[in-house]
Amino acid sequence: MRRFQIIERIRDHKKAWDVVIIGGGATGAGCALDAASRGFETLLLERADFGKGTSSRSTKLIHGGVRYLAQGNISLVRESLRERGLLLENAPDFVKKLEFTVPCYSRFEKFYYGIGLKLYDLLSGKLRFGRSRFLSKDETLERLPNIRSDGLTGGISYFDGQFDDANFLIEILKSASSNGASCLNYATVFDVSKDSNGNVNGVSFTDEESGELFEVRSQVVINAAGAFCDSIRRFSNSYAKNIIAPSQGIHLVFDSSLLSSKTALMIPKTTDGRVLFAIPFHNKTLVGTTDTAIETVSEEPAALESEIDFILQNANSYFEKDLSRADVLSFFAGIRPLVKNSARSSTKQLSRDHTIEIDNSNLLTITGGKWTTYRNMAEGAVDHAIEISNLPAKACRTKKLKIKDSRIESSGEWIAPDIQITKAEIVDAIENGFARTVEDILSRRTRLLFLDAERAVTAAKPVALIMAEILKRDAIWVEDQTSSFTDLAQSYKI
Ligand SMILES: Cc1cc2nc3c(=O)[nH]c(=O)nc-3n(C[C@H](O)[C@H](O)[C@H](O)COP(=O)(O)OP(=O)(O)OC[C@H]3O[C@@H](n4cnc5c(N)ncnc54)[C@H](O)[C@@H]3O)c2cc1C
Repeated sequence: MRRFQIIERIRDHKKAWDVVIIGGGATGAGCALDAASRGFETLLLERADFGKGTSSRSTKLIHGGVRYLAQGNISLVRESLRERGLLLENAPDFVKKLEFTVPCYSRFEKFYYGIGLKLYDLLSGKLRFGRSRFLSKDETLERLPNIRSDGLTGGISYFDGQFDDANFLIEILKSASSNGASCLNYATVFDVSKDSNGNVNGVSFTDEESGELFEVRSQVVINAAGAFCDSIRRFSNSYAKNIIAPSQGIHLVFDSSLLSSKTALMIPKTTDGRVLFAIPFHNKTLVGTTDTAIETVSEEPAALESEIDFILQNANSYFEKDLSRADVLSFFAGIRPLVKNSARSSTKQLSRDHTIEIDNSNLLTITGGKWTTYRNMAEGAVDHAIEISNLPAKACRTKKLKIKDSRIESSGEWIAPDIQITKAEIVDAIENGFARTVEDILSRRTRLLFLDAERAVTAAKPVALIMAEILKRDAIWVEDQTSSFTDLAQSYKI
């Protein structure tokens, strides 16, 4: 369904929706698919493009989280491993098994990480991705030819999952739509309405393309606005205190020659005690991430110099080649919507478990968690939505619901030399994948901005021209889109 048809459907929908969801990241999209597949009339509103928030900026892992194992959060690891297994079964076009190697520089490290990863295998039970095993020094170097070999005693190999977050998100939304949900991007919710009992019974939003204002009614409103969920909570209760302790994480992107293999590197302990990954992704190497407490949340979070230095310094202590800022093709930052816990002092200690809050006006907020657990989070949110409303109790269907890659083959000529994007891909992203702007195409439908910011700039005009033809836009639109994308791309370049 094209965007104008979704708007027409909203305009024609005179009665209350069953469920309105605010936020089109992993959490909101998961809720839309869950609610729609139970047969509820569902509307999802996203103020920018789907995935513009954190859900396109992750490390791209579908994982139990070995780090949470080290923190002793067994229940989160077990839940994540179960969801990881379900995702491989239900979305094999997107979720791929990936071998990780942990290089060890002492016998103790080998023993310690080896035992930890055996426990990780055990916790995944029948849904295991592969057995972890001890590697000799030669086997480790075979997998990671570019790491420092001095003092290397061997390594551990284990398996986890990998995916393209932004593209998977679009397929979840397509699946929600084919189950009857209406999913609208560039639609900013600016208020909630209440009934005579003081319960939230709808939202007001602006169509950012036309400026038109809408008021819709709903049995339940789900706030899935991620790191921005506190501002939505205050639409319902202006005195609500923040529950989010935002934490930023960045990634640096290097040429694929950095890893020179299909195996990922896991650095188990960086100078701040976190793990760091170097992962093959779309023929590049992604290195990250950091965990930096921040004061304010923004749509385009900026990487701190200290975060860039941190990643370079820690990567350089493992790779033979000395990496510098000049080697960075692109970098991007995302914000974790961590839920506050007054007993803990730093964001890296805060739990990645999710939280469901129902305020006095029945606004349901779901936040925290991980991409990996989006399905389970959505199931919990919709179960609670049923409890607090007159919606009929209908069972969740997503445990077995398949999500396939429905994008068309990217056949045909590239749109410009060295830009491996075809016109057919752009047309499909507009007609079937909700894309509205050059940024949507270059950041989240293709991942060029995240992979190589300089090259993405050269693609902006050719993409804008094709989009203008399909969306019936004029030359001014082409110029505006090209220049605003070019400006944005500066913040992805060092
Ligand atoms: C650096 C980093 C790496 C990570 N790596 C992984 C990983 O490898 N694996 C994993 O499982 N998890 C990972 N995570 C966690 C995961 O990415 C997040 O938990 C998840 O993406 C959060 O999704 P969300 O939908 O809650 O938030 P978001 O994706 O931020 O979505 C919220 C949406 O709400 C919208 N919104 C806000 N206000 C309004 C409004 N007024 N009206 C309408 N819409 C609004 C925003 O525009 C946004 O798109 C990582 C997180 C970070 C920061």
